[in-house]
Formats: sequence, structure tokens, C-alpha cells
Amino acid sequence: MAQATQQKTVILVTGGHGLVGSAIKHVIESEPANSRFGKRTGEEWIFVGSRDGDLRDQADTKKLFEKYKPTHVIHLAALVGGLFKNMKYKLTFLRDNILINDNVLHASYEAKVTKLISCLSTCVFPDKVELPLEESKIHLGPPHESNFGYAHAKRMVDVSNHAYHEEFGCNFTSGIPTNIFGPHDNFDLEDSHVIPGLIHKCYLAKKNGTPFVVSGTGKPLRQFIYSYDLAKLFIWQLREYNDIDPIILSVGEDQEVSIKEVADAIVKAIGFTGEYKFDTSRADGQFRKPASNAKLLKLIGGYEFVPFQKALDETVQWFLSNYANARTGSVKA
Ligand code: NAP
Ligand code: GDP
Repeated sequence: MAQATQQKTVILVTGGHGLVGSAIKHVIESEPANSRFGKRTGEEWIFVGSRDGDLRDQADTKKLFEKYKPTHVIHLAALVGGLFKNMKYKLTFLRDNILINDNVLHASYEAKVTKLISCLSTCVFPDKVELPLEESKIHLGPPHESNFGYAHAKRMVDVSNHAYHEEFGCNFTSGIPTNIFGPHDNFDLEDSHVIPGLIHKCYLAKKNGTPFVVSGTGKPLRQFIYSYDLAKLFIWQLREYNDIDPIILSVGEDQEVSIKEVADAIVKAIGFTGEYKFDTSRADGQFRKPASNAKLLKLIGGYEFVPFQKALDETVQWFLSNYANARTGSVKA
């Protein structure tokens, strides 16, 4: 009797060579096979970047899906940047991300993808809303003005997920991480997020004997998640989370850290002893946006995050060992 062939699970990760994509690849390959976060028998993981196709382009996106025939998609690709890049390019953040997301969601629908998870961000939440941020509050008011282009584009993914579900029965959902950091981040001096930007600035200050200058007052608070922890949470979400509504992927609300504490931790990790100051003429952005991880902890049944200083030390060590090939923008000391 002919044996029924077991259908292979093909997981396509867009933005697969970036900060989060590299972390998912690392976790899938380094955790024990068939464990909660490790690669399982019958799974094929495909990590694609912009060289495999420009996801702003519908034909490129369709070609990518025809080539790999994914059954599952983790959609990370996006125009990404920290506060200062978001403030400069609001329309580009809005348009590029709307195009990328619309193309990936529609190609997933056409390719009959079994499950799609898109990556949002806590920037999607309203600026003025009762804290802590919770999944149900996304659409309750306008986002902070500093990144409204990016935030509106990302919010629309949640609207699309529900519309695809209601009209076509698609299993499309999203994860909402806070500020992420780790190996393979973008360490550009101006366009990056605060941790990679400050690691690079502190490295150069030590090397060149110049002051270490932190933008803003140092007072705003953020929650940071290590990319390796987030990678595990996305793998869990792919396998074990069954809802269209988004889920916040974050450390606890009690884990907020001020930008000054971040800068102090970087100074310690780099071993910098020179002059260190704040440029208060530069923007602080949103003062705080604490997000609740109660839904996550309830569903995953407890999770131990890597402590912040340990994760930061590992990231700094990665940056120092990989400086020649790291994404450092136009600067190479
Ligand atoms: P990242 O390192 O910049 O990775 C994003 C990837 O997207 C890049 O590797 C890039 O590919 C790809 N990409 C960009 N434009 C593309 C296009 N037009 N076509 C195809 N691929 C394109 O950023 P990340 O931090 O890993 O971001 C992953 C996800 O997390 C994003 O959705 C982001 O919005 C979200 N997020 C990030 C943070 C954070 O703090 N970093 C916080 C919250 C949410 P190439 O490198 O191949 O060009
Ligand atoms: P946000 O969480 O979306 O605001 O993104 P960021 O990761 O860019 O963090 C911004 C916060 O860090 C603001 O309070 C900035 O003033 C502060 N900050 C201090 N130095 C830097 C830096 O070198 N780069 C960035 N992006 N932010 C910095």
C-alpha cells in the first residue's frame, strides 16, 4: 500500500539576515533538534533578504513565494530605524512599510500559507492611552508624532490580518516586540536604535579619546528585549499561538530601563573611562511606553529572559569581534 507522504513544513523568514532574522536562525540551529525552540523533523527554514527580492515590488514578492512555496511565514522585513531616522523619513517609512506588508500578506493569501506572523512594534500604540500598553489598545488613538509614518503602516497589519481572516479565513497574526538589540544589529551612528548606536559611539570615543555623547536627556524609559529571547518567542508563537489578535513579546513592565542606565551599562561593557555627556538639544522621543507581557506569560507558561547586562555584554563582545563586517553605516574607524 502506498504510504501517505507527509507534507513538509517550509518556513519562510523575510528580513532573514537582519537582527531578528539572524537570531531566529541562530536559535533554530543551536537549540536541540525537536525541542521547544529547536528545528523539528520535516521543517525547512528559509531566510531571505532584500537581495532575494524587493518586497516593495509585487512581482518580486510573488516570485519569491513561487520559488520557495512556504507553508508558514515569519514576516520581519521592514524599513527599520531608531527615533532620529523615523523623524526624518516619515513618508518613506509609511509607504515602504505599507507596500512591503501588503505584498507579503497578499502573496501569503495567494500561496495558501497555513500561518503568517508579522512583526509589529510597541510604536504602534497610541501616545496617550492608559498604561501599561496591552494588546487591546492598539487602535485607541494616534501614535506618537515622532514615528507616525512607521506606526500607522505597522498598525494596518493588524487591520489586514482581521480582514484576511474574516473574508478568506486566513490564519494571519502578529507579534509586538519592544526595543530589540543583539548581534547582527544595525550599528549605524545616526539611523540605528539607541543600544547599537550608543555601543558604536562609545567604542569610537574610547578608540579616539573623544567624549561619549548620548542624545537627549537620558531620562526616557524603554523596555529592551534580547534578540535571542525574541527569536524563541516568535518560534513559540509560530508553533503554539492560535489567534489572529496580536501578542506583545516583551520582558515585564517592571523591567523599564532609563537611557542613562543603558549608557552606563554600555560604558561598563566597553570599559570606557573618558568624558561622558548628554546632548540635551536632541530629541527624547516618547517618554515611556511600558508594555504588559501578561498575555504572553499566561500562554507560554513562564519564560526566563536573559538578564539585561548579560545580553548587553554579549552584544558588545559580538560587536567588538565583528567590527570589520558589522553594519556600521558609512563609518569605519
Ligand atoms: P533589520 O536588522 O534592519 O532587519 C530588517 C530586514 O528587512 C533587513 O535585513 C532587510 O534586508 C529587510 N528589508 C528591508 N527592506 C526590504 C525590502 N524592501 N525588501 C526585502 N527585504 C527588506 O531590523 P530588525 O530589527 O531585525 O527588524 C525586524 C522586525 O522587527 C521589523 O519588522 C521591525 O519593524 C521590527 N522591530 C524592530 C525593533 C528594533 O528595536 N530593532 C523594535 C520593534 C520592532 P537586507 O538586510 O537583506 O537588506
Ligand atoms: P524609540 O524607542 O523608538 O524611541 O527608539 P530608539 O531606540 O531610537 O531610542 C530612542 C531614545 O534613546 C530617545 O530617548 C533618544 O533620545 C535616546 N538616545 C540617546 N542616544 C541615542 C542614539 O545614539 N541613537 C538613538 N536612536 N537614540 C538615542
